[in-house]
Amino acid sequence: MSTPAPLSSRFINIGERTNVTGSARFRKLITAGDFEAALTVARDQVENGAQILDVNMDEGMLDVPVVMRTFLNMLMSDPDVSRVPIMIDSSKWEVIEVGLQCVQGKSVVNSISLKEGRSVFIEQAKATQAYGAAVVVMAFDESGQAETAEHKFSICEQSYRILTQEIGFAPYDIIFDPNIFAVATGIESHNDYAKAFIDATKMIRQHLPGAGVSGGVSNVSFSFRGNDIVREAMHAIFLYHAIRAGMTMGIINAGRLPVYEDIPTRLREAIEDVLFHRHQDATENLITLAQDYQGQEGKTAHTGASLDWREENLSSRLSYALVHGIDEFIEGDVDDARQTMDSPLAVIEGPLMDGMNQVGDLFGAGKMFLPQVVKSARVMKKAVTRLLPYMKQKKGSNKKGKIVMATVKGDVHDIGKNIVGVVLQCNNYEIIDLGVMTPCEKILQTAREQRADMIGLSGLITPSLEEMAFVAEEMTRQNMSLPLLIGGATTSKIHTAVKIAPQYEGLSVHVEDASRAVGIVDALMGRRNQFGEEISTQYAALRDGYHRRGDALLDLVAARAAAARLDWDTPCSRPKTMGLTVLEGITPAMLEDWIDWRPFFQAWELAGTFPAIFDDPKVGEVARNLYADAQAMLARLREKITPRGVIGLWAARRQGDDICLYTDEKDQQPFGVIHTLRQQMRRSSDRPNYALADFIHPKATDYVGGFVVTAGAQIETLAQAYKDKQDDYQAILVQALGDRLAEAFAEYAHFLVRTQYWGYAPGESLSPEDIIKEAYQGIRPAPGYPACPDHSEKISLFDWLKADQNAGVHLTPESCAMIPPSSVSGYYFAHPQSQYFGLGKIGADQLADYARRKSMDQKTVARWLASNLARQVSKQDIERE
Ligand code: SAH
Repeated sequence: MSTPAPLSSRFINIGERTNVTGSARFRKLITAGDFEAALTVARDQVENGAQILDVNMDEGMLDVPVVMRTFLNMLMSDPDVSRVPIMIDSSKWEVIEVGLQCVQGKSVVNSISLKEGRSVFIEQAKATQAYGAAVVVMAFDESGQAETAEHKFSICEQSYRILTQEIGFAPYDIIFDPNIFAVATGIESHNDYAKAFIDATKMIRQHLPGAGVSGGVSNVSFSFRGNDIVREAMHAIFLYHAIRAGMTMGIINAGRLPVYEDIPTRLREAIEDVLFHRHQDATENLITLAQDYQGQEGKTAHTGASLDWREENLSSRLSYALVHGIDEFIEGDVDDARQTMDSPLAVIEGPLMDGMNQVGDLFGAGKMFLPQVVKSARVMKKAVTRLLPYMKQKKGSNKKGKIVMATVKGDVHDIGKNIVGVVLQCNNYEIIDLGVMTPCEKILQTAREQRADMIGLSGLITPSLEEMAFVAEEMTRQNMSLPLLIGGATTSKIHTAVKIAPQYEGLSVHVEDASRAVGIVDALMGRRNQFGEEISTQYAALRDGYHRRGDALLDLVAARAAAARLDWDTPCSRPKTMGLTVLEGITPAMLEDWIDWRPFFQAWELAGTFPAIFDDPKVGEVARNLYADAQAMLARLREKITPRGVIGLWAARRQGDDICLYTDEKDQQPFGVIHTLRQQMRRSSDRPNYALADFIHPKATDYVGGFVVTAGAQIETLAQAYKDKQDDYQAILVQALGDRLAEAFAEYAHFLVRTQYWGYAPGESLSPEDIIKEAYQGIRPAPGYPACPDHSEKISLFDWLKADQNAGVHLTPESCAMIPPSSVSGYYFAHPQSQYFGLGKIGADQLADYARRKSMDQKTVARWLASNLARQVSKQDIERE
């Protein structure tokens, strides 16, 4: 499969530590022949997010080709390291050739250049090409290194022309290194070096299509050797600007880069003055300022200044760590606290609870946000875990209350539930979390055995609404009286009032989101009767309104007469690839550019559009930190998950509101049918009453598609592993990113369908923003969502796609929820006038007709469609938790 150009340049970290010229430690290990220890240097780099490893053995004392071969062979047999491409770095071509022979996967030659003339350049490029490797081309020619932006660019342009035109080198495999040289050396002519690199980068990216730009970043700060804080800050700031100019990768120490925004303003400005040569005193100023940071080894610019809190007394330190979510020192601090206080319990109930109460208050007051609260909870858990072995009685006795929480049977999503659980724990509630797909009896039995104060049910998809009503009914039958909390993406106050509350004699309360949870639960514990009455009155009024509301429906015949009539002048375009295509070789990195970040922030209850949210005065900082954590997690996920997906494109003919599917146009017997539902609302305007079938040609043979994609089953395993380590923050982060990657995959697969597999829009060129706004031709409605709310239609879709075998995705029998949870499925319609809509309420006549077409009994169909009270999810804000 050919890979289209990524939407935006995603920066690739190249690990620099496996380089004898750049790392003294690595050099010592290699010269001592300690390859095992040298291998751990490589592993650490990969762990820290390096996506390519630069390996350089150019050291006079070594037998370089032999050492290169030995080390690369070791790397190739290490499962963690061999997954990342190797950049074979040497100034000697023989060494590079040795490297090319050892490396199994994709490798990158670092480097070739015109410095020894055209013919050597061509010869080496051809050899590189023969190994299928990519190549770094330095901006050198026979006259030496290029120093100005124009000269750098002109050498790169000349090299590019030779590579692409004379020997047919793939542009995507060309990486230019326009040389990063040290600034602030005291030599006047060096002052423009950083700027020259950045300007050359811009020109290369603009005029040499496909080619990437790389550079060895630590060179730039060479004059500040010995002052790591200033050096690291210089690297971060340089990268910040170079990436904006189009730099695609860089040789850096990924584990040691401060976040741009965290660098103290004065230092940042002084560095920017130097990098951009803004004035004559820039170097002098930075040298003076740098003295303040001298010798602060081990600290980094962003935390260096803020360690003052470590000087405070023990209990202030404990609450500080909790409020700021810093888990670095907590274990030592609780050890000290245990020895100075009466009992381990006193530590929990004293300073730790004080800290958590502060967190609860700040969150309640809107001064702390969800990601911070979840991080605080992580510190608390770590502290409590440390104390547990010393406690006779396992649990804190003064919990405010105990809540059993579960995602109901048939449903698998639990990010929302996990978040609410963590927030409640922060507020001193004990949470018994039964996980996903929990049968009713298990929930009720646990609640009884544990003498819980409340039960919380969660669900994402509409069939879960029915299951919740069932649990409510069972609670009545079993004479239970504890409050029932209802939450999750499709739940709503109106559904809780109309469908759940009447089933249960105790109190049912809808919990809108995590920020409401504490208030509701506190009220239920504190002034249950009064709060219960308020809720009951409110819900009764909602029910009244609902039952009095006369939905004006058309009968089915009239609704069909008002069907949408599309423009059928242009013939239907036949898919280039009919039938099933398994999407192979899709890596997480390929999907990252397709991520829509807004719903990610929404999952953490941070409202705003991306990237404007970063400048938001209220949540900007929290959003930036969360995003940085998300990026670090994505880097880890790259090694750990395998996205899978399958698409199908078929011939289709309409039969009323059904769409019959055929393997090709000649077939007379359909192999399957998509049953669609038609809007029946009475309209005052002349808007049609839509059904998805309207988007298929009424008479001629047309085409339709289907897909299932998943970020991979490993998402849940990883989340569980983090939970087992008491790290809910990372667990929730993994799940939230899993969902983002699944959606990103759906977006990318749709793009491939439009431009390649179906190919009805081969020349499509849209900005990332337009893609996220779905400005392209065609739609991919998802079964279970408003245009086609019947989740059970997924059963046949999954069958046609052989989704289990081809993508590793299957459905829960009760509710047709997708397993693994980070999965997306849907249909493809290509007609330019096809659009999303919400079905709304349907009449008994259509229900009977639909049941007949599906050969299902009406009661079963009614259960699948009992979603008209689901929270109204529009195209823009469908949140899959
Ligand atoms: N960029 C978003 C995309 C998900 S929401 C994200 O990353 O979360 C949009 C998707 O939801 C659509 O592509 C479609 O698959 C589904 N969808 C939206 N409105 C729909 C409707 N009315 N009926 C059926 N599916 C719908």
